[in-house]
Amino acid sequence: DFGVIADLVRWHAHASPERPALVDPTRTLAYGDLDALMDRVAASLQRDSLRAGDAIAICAASSVNYAALFLGALRAGVAVAPLAPGSTPASLARMIEDAEARMLFLDAAAAEAIGPPADGAIPRVALDGSRAGLALEAWLAPAGSQPAAVAPQPAWPFNIIYSSGTTGEPKGIVQGHGMRWAHVRRGAKYGYGPETVTLLSTPLYSNTTLVVFFPTIAFGGCVILMPKFDAAGYLALAERHRVTHTMLVPVQYQRLMAHPDFDRHDLSSFRFKFSTSAPFGAALKADVLKRWPGGLIEFYGMTEGGGTCILEAHLHPDKLHTVGQPAEGSDIRLIDEAGREVARGEAGEVVGHSAGMMTGYHHQPEKTREAEWFDPTGKRFIRTGDVGRFDEEGFLTLFDRKKDMIISGGFNIYPSDLEAVLRSHAAVAEAAVVGAPSEQWGETPVAFVVRRAGNDTSGEALLQWANAQLGKTQRLARLHLIDELPRSAIGKVLKRELREFDAR
Ligand code: ATP
Ligand code: MG
Repeated sequence: DFGVIADLVRWHAHASPERPALVDPTRTLAYGDLDALMDRVAASLQRDSLRAGDAIAICAASSVNYAALFLGALRAGVAVAPLAPGSTPASLARMIEDAEARMLFLDAAAAEAIGPPADGAIPRVALDGSRAGLALEAWLAPAGSQPAAVAPQPAWPFNIIYSSGTTGEPKGIVQGHGMRWAHVRRGAKYGYGPETVTLLSTPLYSNTTLVVFFPTIAFGGCVILMPKFDAAGYLALAERHRVTHTMLVPVQYQRLMAHPDFDRHDLSSFRFKFSTSAPFGAALKADVLKRWPGGLIEFYGMTEGGGTCILEAHLHPDKLHTVGQPAEGSDIRLIDEAGREVARGEAGEVVGHSAGMMTGYHHQPEKTREAEWFDPTGKRFIRTGDVGRFDEEGFLTLFDRKKDMIISGGFNIYPSDLEAVLRSHAAVAEAAVVGAPSEQWGETPVAFVVRRAGNDTSGEALLQWANAQLGKTQRLARLHLIDELPRSAIGKVLKRELREFDAR
């Protein structure tokens, strides 16, 4: 069972050429025009002697051009390395080289981040009409151009995604056409169809976005791209376009639910809302379920593809503290420090297996070996670095990333437990806890708190209050008040930056 997403676009273009496929703040592209543009992209890549299996890099804000280019490259069997424009110049240069990208498509902001091309650099094409490279229109083969037909196979690379880099340098992960197709198949359960209108405000370079983008297009729906999220703008777009599906990360749900006008908007068109990529508090999920029509679905997984857990929150209101149960085709297990499976009901590192998992990190055999775990029968799993526990009914509760766990005086401290205590204080909007080196204890917990707007409770008072709630071994050494938690572009709290801040 396998299908080709680019072929489905052609099918929708024949069936209903006028139906909108892609929308951004400046324009709308209908299926007929999208299909024609994809042909021109594929023909241009072939003209420039790119073949199936070659790669291009795209480093730009989300736009109709970006999405059409991605789909057009797929039609030629060319893989896409979507890069985060917010990365450092050195990191971007490394990713472009690592992906062996033959061309770079970018916009003005990305060009500024990357810097001018060095001698012998790969050709650049500007997606936004800027002078970041050759103009897209000048690069594109004439309207009506037809590419040579290519038939992608499940194992062919579809995209090379660089993991979020939450815990260190981003790692290149090759995802195949087969894995993307699995997401499309799963989409059948979530009511995607030609009537679907999906609003995406997370960037196109993230797997978080792509797991919803491709199913929407494969089913002939319309994707609305919001290049930069803000709560008021999101709500206005959702209402105006009668949006049915969306993907948001937890911090975006938090901003939306906190927006003073949230309840005044008509969001009755929503059928399914998705979330993934970071911890989503149970209270926040309950609030979303109560005030926002339609189902709420949380995915837990990693770009590496080592399986997925799914929580259909609207069906399991008593399981909101979990990330749900393993998806069909996903085998999720828990292991201890020695690499043995833990007994039922115990916590351990999450390892996962799925049909679409990566064969390895691109060009990093060492890192690949570190990430692999084999069960006694030789079945291959990918280690997530996350700690979790299954309950009686097989729902997974996640604690923290192993790297974020604090070992103090021989005790394991889960930062998430301490964060939950801090967040229960009326003055606290957001909280994060990290381990700091301590001569006496090895490590000791340190808190960072963002207060609710207008609140002036002192850090000292919060520290004393928290330590009165916490067990003796969990007590905080320090508490820093800050204006905002440092987050990645996809909304993950960057704990390594907090650790650096505390060390200063
Ligand atoms: P890097 O591996 O480069 O440090 P990353 O792990 O953040 O970055 P991703 O593949 O984007 O890169 O994210 C996968 C991780 O995100 C998971 O291992 C987990 O820690 C976290 N995550 C994903 N979904 C959820 C979820 N539903 N709840 C809590 N955490 C989640
Ligand atoms: Mg990871």
